[in-house]
Amino acid sequence: MFKIENKGKAQIKSRNRIKVFNFILQNGPVSRTELEKQLGISAPSISRIVEMLKNEKYVKEIGKEDTSVGRKPIKLVVNKDARYIVGISITKTSIYLSITNLGSDIIYNNRKPLCEIETGMDLLIDINNYIEDSLKITDITKDMILGIGVASRGVIDYTTGTILRCYFNDYKEPINNIEVKKFLKNLYSCDVIVDNNINVDLFGDFFLTNNTMDNSKKNYLYVYMGEGVGGSVICNNEIVRGNNNIGGRIGHMIVEPEGKTCNCGQKGHLEAYVSKSAIKQQYTNATKEKDVDIVEICHKANKGDEICTDIIDNVLEKLSIAIANIQLIISPHTIILAGEIFDHYEKALEILNNKINDYIFDKKLNEVNWIIKPKKDIMFAYSATALIMDKMFNIE
Ligand SMILES: [Zn+2]
Repeated sequence: MFKIENKGKAQIKSRNRIKVFNFILQNGPVSRTELEKQLGISAPSISRIVEMLKNEKYVKEIGKEDTSVGRKPIKLVVNKDARYIVGISITKTSIYLSITNLGSDIIYNNRKPLCEIETGMDLLIDINNYIEDSLKITDITKDMILGIGVASRGVIDYTTGTILRCYFNDYKEPINNIEVKKFLKNLYSCDVIVDNNINVDLFGDFFLTNNTMDNSKKNYLYVYMGEGVGGSVICNNEIVRGNNNIGGRIGHMIVEPEGKTCNCGQKGHLEAYVSKSAIKQQYTNATKEKDVDIVEICHKANKGDEICTDIIDNVLEKLSIAIANIQLIISPHTIILAGEIFDHYEKALEILNNKINDYIFDKKLNEVNWIIKPKKDIMFAYSATALIMDKMFNIE
């Protein structure tokens, strides 16, 4: 229905169909006359497209009934539950799944632990079982799925929708070349997008639902501190992927040559200092206590505990080196940070800012909007559904 044809009249027709649907979605209820005026499409074309959308149950008419004072104008609204979008997030130990309707309302949202995964196929089967179970619960049939968005950790080839390399559960060896897009497309014959989870979150959630993207070209930096350290860079409103699709992997910036060994095996990378496990390890080294929570380290630091203050200070030091370097190159307009330290240590942003000001080439580069994104609000699976909506209906 919403496939864009490549050439000639078919292309114009297919684009007009999306424009009409998108306008009703964003502005409904609207009349046919409003559609003609706002979109500059002829009346016969509008009626033909609307008929088609009605037949496929994508839109419906309201206000049809006659009243004593005359006939109400017929308006069109989107039938939000005509189709659904599945969003999936793959983390180290779990799969998260969201189902949204055409109005981006969440119909279903859940999480399950990953099965024992030894090969890429194990993961793919696990994902498919989860989708099938969720469809059963929500009583949605396969043909009602408009698209599947997948946000995954690891190194992703966005163009082929393949997870090139990723570590799961506690395995020391990564699994390589998991062809997620190919597998799901075969089973569901709908649009499938696979991207790095931090890219998905920055683009899908921050850009789309907050509508911060206006017409001006802006640069953004997003740093996510979790089990690993993820990052995403947007330059001129586009995600930086680089020549080989693995550009923008901030967690593996060198912040101390020959420093601590990173999860990737190389030395001195940011992730080796600021990931959750790195912070916990520093605490254990200093106190011999095991299994302490980062939130607890932050609370102790808030009360002035010296060891905890030092640990966090060191984390912010390494982070400031990485951010100052990125600022020099892309001069971002907004920097978004997600991590327990920023949620729970009161002075985190102030300290980080001061450190950057000490290091940076020109203080002007550090005149940015800082946004702390609370970790509890991050929903990669939901953001993945927004990517599908954007791909299908945003054709400016
Ligand atoms: Zn690394």
